[in-house]
Amino acid sequence: GYKKVLEENRKLYNQVQDLKGSIRVYCRVRPSLPGQENQVTSVDYMDEETVTIIVPSKSGKEGRKASMFNKVFGPSATQEEVFSDTQPLIRSVLDGFNVCIFACGQTGAGKTYTLTGPAELTPETTGVTYRALNDLFLISEERKNLMNYEISINMIEIYNDEIWDLLISQPAKKGINLPDANLVPVSSTDDVMNLMNLCKKNRAANDRSNRAHTFLTAHVFGKDLTSGTATRGCMHLVDLAGNEKLENSDDEATHINQSLSALGDVLVALANKSSKVNYKNCKLTQLLQDALGAQAKILMFVHVHPDMDEALETLNTFKFAERFSALDKSTEVKDLKEQICLLKSALAKKEAGDPGWQD
Ligand code: ADP
Ligand code: MG
Repeated sequence: GYKKVLEENRKLYNQVQDLKGSIRVYCRVRPSLPGQENQVTSVDYMDEETVTIIVPSKSGKEGRKASMFNKVFGPSATQEEVFSDTQPLIRSVLDGFNVCIFACGQTGAGKTYTLTGPAELTPETTGVTYRALNDLFLISEERKNLMNYEISINMIEIYNDEIWDLLISQPAKKGINLPDANLVPVSSTDDVMNLMNLCKKNRAANDRSNRAHTFLTAHVFGKDLTSGTATRGCMHLVDLAGNEKLENSDDEATHINQSLSALGDVLVALANKSSKVNYKNCKLTQLLQDALGAQAKILMFVHVHPDMDEALETLNTFKFAERFSALDKSTEVKDLKEQICLLKSALAKKEAGDPGWQD
Protein backbone atom coordinates (compact mmCIF):
# COMPACT_ATOMS: atom_id res chain seq x y z
CA GLY A 1 0.00 0.00 0.00
CA TYR A 2 2.45 2.63 1.26
CA LYS A 3 5.08 1.90 -1.38
CA LYS A 4 2.51 1.86 -4.09
CA VAL A 5 1.23 5.27 -3.09
CA LEU A 6 4.77 6.63 -3.15
CA GLU A 7 5.34 5.19 -6.57
CA GLU A 8 2.02 6.51 -7.83
CA ASN A 9 2.94 9.91 -6.47
CA ARG A 10 6.26 9.91 -8.29
CA LYS A 11 4.64 8.81 -11.53
CA LEU A 12 2.10 11.62 -11.31
CA TYR A 13 4.82 14.09 -10.51
CA ASN A 14 6.74 13.08 -13.61
CA GLN A 15 3.60 13.36 -15.66
CA VAL A 16 3.09 16.89 -14.41
CA GLN A 17 6.70 17.77 -15.28
CA ASP A 18 6.15 16.32 -18.75
CA LEU A 19 2.97 18.26 -19.26
CA LYS A 20 4.65 21.42 -18.14
CA GLY A 21 7.03 20.79 -21.01
CA SER A 22 10.71 21.40 -21.27
CA ILE A 23 10.26 25.14 -20.97
CA ARG A 24 9.83 26.59 -17.51
CA VAL A 25 8.72 30.15 -17.03
CA TYR A 26 9.50 32.00 -13.82
CA CYS A 27 8.36 35.49 -13.00
CA ARG A 28 10.37 37.92 -10.88
CA VAL A 29 8.91 41.18 -9.63
CA ARG A 30 11.54 43.84 -9.00
CA PRO A 31 11.35 45.71 -5.69
CA SER A 32 10.97 49.47 -5.68
CA LEU A 33 14.35 51.14 -5.59
CA PRO A 34 15.59 52.86 -2.42
CA GLY A 35 13.76 56.15 -1.92
CA GLN A 36 10.75 55.07 -3.97
CA GLU A 37 9.27 52.57 -1.56
CA ASN A 38 6.19 54.70 -0.96
CA GLN A 39 5.13 54.91 -4.58
CA VAL A 40 2.08 52.97 -5.68
CA THR A 41 3.17 50.02 -7.78
CA SER A 42 1.70 48.27 -10.79
CA VAL A 43 1.59 44.90 -9.08
CA ASP A 44 -1.72 44.39 -7.37
CA TYR A 45 -1.50 40.85 -6.16
CA MET A 46 0.77 37.90 -6.45
CA ASP A 47 1.10 34.40 -5.11
CA GLU A 48 3.34 31.42 -5.91
CA GLU A 49 1.98 31.09 -9.44
CA THR A 50 0.07 34.22 -10.44
CA VAL A 51 0.62 37.95 -10.74
CA THR A 52 -2.03 40.64 -11.18
CA ILE A 53 -0.98 43.86 -12.89
CA ILE A 54 -3.00 47.07 -12.65
CA VAL A 55 -3.47 48.66 -16.05
CA PRO A 56 -5.31 51.78 -17.18
CA SER A 57 -8.73 51.09 -18.70
CA LYS A 58 -11.80 52.99 -19.85
CA SER A 59 -13.31 52.79 -16.40
CA GLY A 60 -10.12 53.93 -14.73
CA LYS A 61 -8.06 50.96 -13.73
CA GLU A 62 -8.38 47.22 -13.91
CA GLY A 63 -6.41 44.18 -12.80
CA ARG A 64 -5.03 41.68 -15.30
CA LYS A 65 -4.20 38.32 -13.89
CA ALA A 66 -1.37 36.28 -15.42
CA SER A 67 -1.19 32.65 -14.44
CA MET A 68 1.29 31.09 -16.85
CA PHE A 69 4.18 30.89 -14.46
CA ASN A 70 5.77 27.81 -12.96
CA LYS A 71 6.82 30.05 -10.11
CA VAL A 72 6.60 33.68 -9.07
CA PHE A 73 9.30 35.45 -7.07
CA GLY A 74 8.11 38.57 -5.28
CA PRO A 75 10.11 41.76 -4.62
CA SER A 76 11.66 40.37 -1.45
CA ALA A 77 12.97 37.15 -3.00
CA THR A 78 16.72 36.90 -2.52
CA GLN A 79 19.28 35.91 -5.15
CA GLU A 80 19.81 32.72 -3.18
CA GLU A 81 16.12 31.82 -3.28
CA VAL A 82 15.91 32.48 -7.00
CA PHE A 83 18.97 30.35 -7.61
CA SER A 84 17.81 27.43 -5.51
CA ASP A 85 14.96 26.85 -7.96
CA THR A 86 17.39 27.01 -10.88
CA GLN A 87 20.01 24.70 -9.46
CA PRO A 88 18.68 21.30 -10.63
CA LEU A 89 18.80 22.55 -14.19
CA ILE A 90 22.40 23.68 -13.88
CA ARG A 91 23.50 20.34 -12.53
CA SER A 92 22.23 18.53 -15.59
CA VAL A 93 24.87 20.33 -17.69
CA LEU A 94 27.46 18.08 -16.07
CA ASP A 95 25.51 15.06 -17.32
CA GLY A 96 25.70 16.31 -20.88
CA PHE A 97 22.45 18.23 -21.19
CA ASN A 98 22.16 21.63 -22.80
CA VAL A 99 20.61 24.34 -20.70
CA CYS A 100 19.42 27.77 -21.78
CA ILE A 101 18.44 30.38 -19.25
CA PHE A 102 16.96 33.62 -20.54
CA ALA A 103 16.08 36.89 -18.86
CA CYS A 104 13.43 38.99 -20.56
CA GLY A 105 11.58 42.18 -19.70
CA GLN A 106 11.83 45.88 -20.39
CA THR A 107 14.90 47.93 -19.52
CA GLY A 108 15.11 48.48 -15.77
CA ALA A 109 12.98 45.46 -14.88
CA GLY A 110 15.87 43.52 -13.33
CA LYS A 111 17.22 41.17 -16.04
CA THR A 112 20.86 41.93 -15.39
CA TYR A 113 20.27 41.81 -11.64
CA THR A 114 18.94 38.25 -11.90
CA LEU A 115 21.70 36.96 -14.16
CA THR A 116 24.67 39.01 -12.96
CA GLY A 117 23.70 41.08 -9.92
CA PRO A 118 23.84 44.82 -9.10
CA ALA A 119 26.71 47.05 -10.22
CA GLU A 120 28.56 46.53 -6.93
CA LEU A 121 28.59 42.81 -6.27
CA THR A 122 28.66 41.26 -2.82
CA PRO A 123 28.55 37.53 -2.04
CA GLU A 124 24.81 37.85 -1.25
CA THR A 125 23.90 39.73 -4.40
CA THR A 126 25.72 37.72 -7.06
CA GLY A 127 23.31 36.47 -9.66
CA VAL A 128 22.55 33.18 -11.35
CA THR A 129 25.70 33.19 -13.54
CA TYR A 130 28.24 33.28 -10.76
CA ARG A 131 26.27 30.82 -8.61
CA ALA A 132 25.79 28.45 -11.52
CA LEU A 133 29.47 28.31 -12.33
CA ASN A 134 30.30 27.97 -8.66
CA ASP A 135 28.02 24.93 -8.59
CA LEU A 136 29.64 23.43 -11.66
CA PHE A 137 33.08 23.76 -10.05
CA LEU A 138 31.88 22.30 -6.74
CA ILE A 139 30.24 19.27 -8.29
CA SER A 140 33.09 18.57 -10.67
CA GLU A 141 35.36 18.61 -7.63
CA GLU A 142 33.05 16.17 -5.81
CA ARG A 143 33.10 13.82 -8.79
CA LYS A 144 36.81 14.10 -9.46
CA ASN A 145 37.50 10.42 -8.76
CA LEU A 146 34.94 9.40 -11.37
CA MET A 147 34.91 12.16 -13.93
CA ASN A 148 37.27 14.72 -15.35
CA TYR A 149 35.60 17.98 -16.34
CA GLU A 150 36.90 20.88 -18.37
CA ILE A 151 34.91 24.09 -18.35
CA SER A 152 35.43 27.06 -20.62
CA ILE A 153 33.38 30.14 -21.25
CA ASN A 154 32.81 32.78 -23.87
CA MET A 155 30.96 36.04 -23.62
CA ILE A 156 29.50 37.79 -26.59
CA GLU A 157 26.81 40.28 -27.40
CA ILE A 158 24.54 40.47 -30.40
CA TYR A 159 23.94 44.05 -31.45
CA ASN A 160 22.08 44.89 -34.67
CA ASP A 161 22.35 41.24 -35.64
CA GLU A 162 26.16 41.32 -35.39
CA ILE A 163 28.21 39.32 -32.96
CA TRP A 164 30.71 41.11 -30.75
CA ASP A 165 33.20 39.31 -28.59
CA LEU A 166 33.08 40.87 -25.14
CA LEU A 167 36.32 39.22 -24.09
CA ILE A 168 38.38 40.99 -26.72
CA SER A 169 36.13 43.98 -27.42
CA GLN A 170 36.45 43.76 -31.15
CA PRO A 171 33.82 43.00 -33.71
CA ALA A 172 33.77 39.28 -34.12
CA LYS A 173 34.68 38.01 -37.54
CA LYS A 174 31.88 37.75 -40.02
CA GLY A 175 30.17 34.40 -39.99
CA ILE A 176 28.24 33.23 -37.06
CA ASN A 177 30.18 30.45 -35.49
CA LEU A 178 30.90 30.83 -31.84
CA PRO A 179 34.31 29.19 -32.14
CA ASP A 180 35.36 32.54 -33.56
CA ALA A 181 34.83 34.04 -30.13
CA ASN A 182 37.39 33.68 -27.40
CA LEU A 183 36.82 30.47 -25.49
CA VAL A 184 38.58 30.78 -22.16
CA PRO A 185 39.20 27.83 -19.83
CA VAL A 186 38.11 28.52 -16.26
CA SER A 187 38.69 26.53 -13.11
CA SER A 188 37.38 28.74 -10.32
CA THR A 189 34.83 31.45 -9.64
CA ASP A 190 37.76 33.90 -9.40
CA ASP A 191 38.52 33.17 -13.05
CA VAL A 192 34.89 33.83 -13.90
CA MET A 193 34.82 37.06 -11.92
CA ASN A 194 37.96 38.29 -13.70
CA LEU A 195 36.37 37.63 -17.08
CA MET A 196 33.17 39.38 -16.04
CA ASN A 197 35.24 42.39 -14.99
CA LEU A 198 37.14 42.35 -18.27
CA CYS A 199 33.82 42.31 -20.06
CA LYS A 200 32.59 45.25 -18.00
CA LYS A 201 35.77 47.18 -18.76
CA ASN A 202 35.53 46.44 -22.47
CA ARG A 203 32.03 47.72 -22.40
CA ALA A 204 32.52 50.83 -20.31
CA ALA A 205 33.07 53.26 -23.20
CA ASN A 206 30.17 52.01 -25.22
CA ASP A 207 27.57 50.31 -23.07
CA ARG A 208 24.64 49.31 -25.19
CA SER A 209 23.72 46.30 -23.10
CA ASN A 210 20.07 47.38 -22.94
CA ARG A 211 19.84 47.21 -26.72
CA ALA A 212 21.87 44.02 -27.18
CA HIS A 213 21.48 40.37 -26.28
CA THR A 214 24.32 39.32 -23.98
CA PHE A 215 25.46 35.71 -23.81
CA LEU A 216 27.63 33.99 -21.30
CA THR A 217 28.14 30.42 -22.47
CA ALA A 218 29.81 27.70 -20.45
CA HIS A 219 30.98 24.64 -22.34
CA VAL A 220 31.45 21.58 -20.19
CA PHE A 221 33.45 18.61 -21.42
CA GLY A 222 33.36 15.57 -19.21
CA LYS A 223 35.29 12.32 -19.40
CA ASP A 224 34.39 9.22 -17.47
CA LEU A 225 37.67 8.07 -15.92
CA THR A 226 36.81 4.37 -16.01
CA SER A 227 34.91 3.93 -19.26
CA GLY A 228 36.48 6.83 -21.14
CA THR A 229 33.04 7.95 -22.32
CA ALA A 230 32.88 11.64 -23.10
CA THR A 231 29.96 13.97 -22.34
CA ARG A 232 29.47 17.45 -23.61
CA GLY A 233 27.00 19.93 -22.17
CA CYS A 234 26.57 23.59 -22.65
CA MET A 235 24.86 26.33 -20.69
CA HIS A 236 23.76 29.60 -22.25
CA LEU A 237 22.83 32.45 -19.94
CA VAL A 238 21.19 35.09 -22.06
CA ASP A 239 20.39 38.63 -20.93
CA LEU A 240 17.96 39.66 -23.66
CA ALA A 241 17.65 43.19 -25.02
CA GLY A 242 14.94 45.31 -23.39
CA ASN A 243 11.66 44.60 -25.14
CA GLU A 244 10.04 48.00 -24.52
CA LYS A 245 8.25 49.62 -27.45
CA LEU A 246 10.37 52.31 -29.01
CA GLU A 247 8.95 55.36 -30.62
CA ASN A 248 11.41 55.59 -33.45
CA SER A 249 11.62 52.44 -35.49
CA ASP A 250 15.32 52.64 -36.27
CA ASP A 251 17.59 49.72 -37.14
CA GLU A 252 18.23 48.97 -33.50
CA ALA A 253 14.55 48.62 -32.64
CA THR A 254 13.84 46.61 -35.77
CA HIS A 255 16.59 44.12 -34.96
CA ILE A 256 15.44 43.77 -31.38
CA ASN A 257 11.82 43.18 -32.37
CA GLN A 258 12.71 40.72 -35.10
CA SER A 259 15.09 38.72 -32.96
CA LEU A 260 12.73 38.51 -29.98
CA SER A 261 9.87 37.37 -32.15
CA ALA A 262 12.14 34.80 -33.85
CA LEU A 263 13.13 33.53 -30.40
CA GLY A 264 9.46 33.38 -29.41
CA ASP A 265 8.70 31.32 -32.54
CA VAL A 266 11.52 28.87 -31.77
CA LEU A 267 10.34 28.45 -28.18
CA VAL A 268 6.73 27.93 -29.27
CA ALA A 269 7.86 25.25 -31.74
CA LEU A 270 9.88 23.54 -29.01
CA ALA A 271 7.04 23.80 -26.50
CA ASN A 272 4.71 22.15 -29.00
CA LYS A 273 7.35 19.51 -29.77
CA SER A 274 7.09 20.51 -33.41
CA SER A 275 9.55 18.99 -35.83
CA LYS A 276 9.81 22.26 -37.73
CA VAL A 277 11.90 24.72 -35.80
CA ASN A 278 13.23 27.66 -37.76
CA TYR A 279 16.49 28.94 -36.33
CA LYS A 280 17.62 30.73 -39.47
CA ASN A 281 15.92 34.09 -39.01
CA CYS A 282 18.50 35.89 -36.90
CA LYS A 283 21.82 35.54 -35.11
CA LEU A 284 20.12 35.12 -31.74
CA THR A 285 18.34 31.92 -32.76
CA GLN A 286 21.23 30.72 -34.95
CA LEU A 287 23.57 30.87 -31.96
CA LEU A 288 21.13 28.85 -29.90
CA GLN A 289 20.50 26.19 -32.52
CA ASP A 290 23.09 23.69 -31.29
CA ALA A 291 21.98 24.03 -27.70
CA LEU A 292 18.22 24.05 -28.19
CA GLY A 293 16.32 20.98 -29.25
CA ALA A 294 14.10 18.32 -27.83
CA GLN A 295 16.56 17.46 -25.05
CA ALA A 296 17.36 21.00 -24.02
CA LYS A 297 16.24 22.41 -20.70
CA ILE A 298 14.97 25.92 -21.00
CA LEU A 299 14.15 28.48 -18.35
CA MET A 300 12.76 31.96 -19.01
CA PHE A 301 12.84 34.58 -16.27
CA VAL A 302 10.11 37.11 -16.96
CA HIS A 303 10.83 40.40 -15.20
CA VAL A 304 8.27 42.85 -13.90
CA HIS A 305 9.07 46.54 -13.47
CA PRO A 306 7.10 47.74 -10.42
CA ASP A 307 6.39 51.31 -11.61
CA MET A 308 2.78 52.15 -12.32
CA ASP A 309 3.44 53.68 -15.73
CA GLU A 310 5.34 50.59 -16.89
CA ALA A 311 2.31 48.32 -16.57
CA LEU A 312 1.50 48.16 -20.28
CA GLU A 313 5.06 47.15 -21.09
CA THR A 314 4.75 44.40 -18.52
CA LEU A 315 1.66 43.09 -20.30
CA ASN A 316 3.68 42.99 -23.54
CA THR A 317 6.36 40.97 -21.82
CA PHE A 318 3.68 38.58 -20.54
CA LYS A 319 2.27 38.24 -24.05
CA PHE A 320 5.71 37.19 -25.26
CA ALA A 321 6.08 34.54 -22.55
CA GLU A 322 2.50 33.30 -22.68
CA ARG A 323 3.05 31.90 -26.15
CA PHE A 324 5.48 29.22 -25.05
CA SER A 325 4.36 28.70 -21.47
CA ALA A 326 2.39 25.48 -21.36
CA LEU A 327 0.72 26.19 -18.07
CA ASP A 328 -2.18 28.47 -18.75
CA LYS A 329 -3.76 26.15 -21.26
CA SER A 330 -3.44 22.95 -19.37
CA THR A 331 -6.27 21.87 -17.15
CA GLU A 332 -4.64 18.45 -17.08
CA VAL A 333 -1.87 19.84 -14.92
CA LYS A 334 -4.47 21.12 -12.48
CA ASP A 335 -6.20 17.73 -12.32
CA LEU A 336 -2.93 15.92 -11.73
CA LYS A 337 -1.96 18.42 -9.05
CA GLU A 338 -5.22 17.71 -7.25
CA GLN A 339 -4.54 13.98 -7.37
CA ILE A 340 -1.08 14.59 -5.94
CA CYS A 341 -2.65 16.57 -3.10
CA LEU A 342 -5.00 13.70 -2.32
CA LEU A 343 -2.15 11.20 -2.31
CA LYS A 344 -0.06 13.47 -0.13
CA SER A 345 -2.79 13.74 2.46
CA ALA A 346 -3.21 9.95 2.37
CA LEU A 347 0.53 9.63 3.03
CA ALA A 348 0.39 12.14 5.85
CA LYS A 349 -2.45 10.17 7.46
CA LYS A 350 -0.47 6.97 7.17
CA GLU A 351 2.60 8.61 8.72
CA ALA A 352 0.53 10.02 11.57
CA GLY A 353 -0.74 6.50 12.29
CA ASP A 354 -4.31 7.45 11.44
CA PRO A 355 -6.50 4.36 11.91
CA GLY A 356 -8.54 5.52 8.90
CA TRP A 357 -5.61 4.55 6.68
CA GLN A 358 -6.14 1.41 4.71
CA ASP A 359 -3.44 -0.54 2.93
P1 ADP B 1 17.61 45.48 -16.65
O1 ADP B 1 18.86 44.68 -16.82
O2 ADP B 1 16.37 44.68 -16.89
O3 ADP B 1 17.63 46.74 -17.46
P2 ADP B 1 18.65 45.95 -14.00
O4 ADP B 1 19.00 44.57 -13.61
O5 ADP B 1 19.78 46.82 -14.45
O6 ADP B 1 17.51 45.95 -15.14
O7 ADP B 1 17.85 46.61 -12.79
C1 ADP B 1 17.53 47.99 -12.72
C2 ADP B 1 17.90 48.53 -11.34
O8 ADP B 1 17.15 47.85 -10.33
C3 ADP B 1 19.35 48.29 -10.99
O9 ADP B 1 19.79 49.37 -10.22
C4 ADP B 1 19.32 47.03 -10.15
O10 ADP B 1 20.43 46.93 -9.27
C5 ADP B 1 18.00 47.16 -9.42
N1 ADP B 1 17.37 45.84 -9.16
C6 ADP B 1 16.85 45.02 -10.09
N2 ADP B 1 16.34 43.90 -9.54
C7 ADP B 1 16.54 44.02 -8.21
C8 ADP B 1 16.23 43.18 -7.08
N3 ADP B 1 15.63 42.00 -7.23
N4 ADP B 1 16.59 43.64 -5.87
C9 ADP B 1 17.21 44.82 -5.71
N5 ADP B 1 17.52 45.66 -6.72
C10 ADP B 1 17.20 45.27 -7.97
MG1 MG C 1 20.45 45.04 -18.16
